[in-house]
Amino acid sequence: MSVESKKLKYNEISEKISAYRLALTTLNWDSSTIAPKKGASYRNKMAALLSGELFSIQTSDEYIALIDDLSKETLDDVTAREIRLIKNNLDKARYIPKEVFIEYAQLTRDAENVWEKARDDHDYEPFKPYLKKLIEMTKKVISYRKDDRPVYDQLIDDFETGITLADYDVFFKKLKEEIVPFLHKIIDKKIPEPTWLTRDVPIEQQRKVVDILMEYLNYDKESGYIGESAHPFSSHFSIHDNRVTVRYHQDMFTSSIFALIHEVGHATYNGQVDEDYQGRAIADSMTYGMHESQSRLYENMVGRSRAFWSSIYPKVQSVVDALHDVTLDDFILGINHVALSLIRIEADELTYPLHIMVRYEIEQGLFDGTYDVEGLDQVWSDKYEEYLGIRPPHNGLGILQDIHWSGGAFGYFPTYALGSAYSAQWMMAMQKDIDVDHCLENNDFRAVNEWLKQHVHRHGGVYEPNELLFAVTGENFNPQYYVDYLKDKYSKLYDINE
Ligand code: ZN
Repeated sequence: MSVESKKLKYNEISEKISAYRLALTTLNWDSSTIAPKKGASYRNKMAALLSGELFSIQTSDEYIALIDDLSKETLDDVTAREIRLIKNNLDKARYIPKEVFIEYAQLTRDAENVWEKARDDHDYEPFKPYLKKLIEMTKKVISYRKDDRPVYDQLIDDFETGITLADYDVFFKKLKEEIVPFLHKIIDKKIPEPTWLTRDVPIEQQRKVVDILMEYLNYDKESGYIGESAHPFSSHFSIHDNRVTVRYHQDMFTSSIFALIHEVGHATYNGQVDEDYQGRAIADSMTYGMHESQSRLYENMVGRSRAFWSSIYPKVQSVVDALHDVTLDDFILGINHVALSLIRIEADELTYPLHIMVRYEIEQGLFDGTYDVEGLDQVWSDKYEEYLGIRPPHNGLGILQDIHWSGGAFGYFPTYALGSAYSAQWMMAMQKDIDVDHCLENNDFRAVNEWLKQHVHRHGGVYEPNELLFAVTGENFNPQYYVDYLKDKYSKLYDINE
């Protein structure tokens, strides 16, 4: 077969894969938002059937041979990158014996059930043997790869290509040395959480706020949609169809605000990818950290900034009765309130990366033999006490709070902190080109989106994080921008002299 016919064949299969993906995304969106409960079992059965078909295409001898062939050909840069990404994933999976794969899948299903009950019972003991087995099985699954790097290094690379353990070590060391003592200065000020944060805000009023935000952020109803679900998420259907969900809490209205801004950040990223990549794997193969860098830039650097709120606060105040006596200054301080917190997903912007640091140190220790599952709940609690100044009263609020490990997702957590850190580096570069505060204050979010489109979004997954960071900011990932950003922002908010 000539290169041209191989490419034609590849495009034909890719399109079929895209069609299955679109169908599955639609089913998934539907079942997480509006689908009636009683239809779940039939719906799930049909979705499983489609997933099975997709799996067969992606693991067919024809497809694998085609990818292997194309990986040896001279191709244009974008196609070459796409083939490399697909081949890397194939190489990771192809030598795993089927029975090992099935055993692993079964283990994660069982472990998730055990974890859920253990978390509700606040009891680490029943989960402990599963955690041990999950680590053993992860090591086993990884051992079939033709890669001799240590297991945790490979896991880290699976979730964030090109970022190494050494990069993370530098990053978290900086957080430990600079942000932990800084946080303790804020905690010492003992500023109570403002009571207006938990005032009752009717859902109707919250929906009006969401409309105001949508308009400001240029999140367009022609190519987007806001649904409701138990946990907010964003869903990528195609370049012109990126939907998000929110959840309204009557007694915690700021939660829907920031969840929405976060998810719109994800949706805008997918929506501003170069149209030429429509339907191709490269359109949606950004790393976890890169995707999170866009949602966090939206949520924190834009959404929790004074410039942003100085522009829309009067409008928001006019539709939210509970804000009638809250000044803009009070509001800014409230949405950036730093609290001693036990739960990662409820943490504020400053403490969030420290929650991740705890998990990173523990994961690393579990794989290099520093820690064992025995007594790990105490290690967890000790680290929370040391870094975050608070000790969990029970394991449900401690080591059992996250689902990730029960699904075998080791190496995933650090990308959450990495996303925030990348976003500080993007922001630094953006500020050299445009006056971001001025744009935000003047309702000109288009300029921010346009900058992101030109420098980050349009490329989709064409570049690895460090390649793009270097091209745009002149250096590889540098965590100093993030540390400086956090200290600068919170020194001003909390009147701390650094
Ligand atoms: Zn996110």
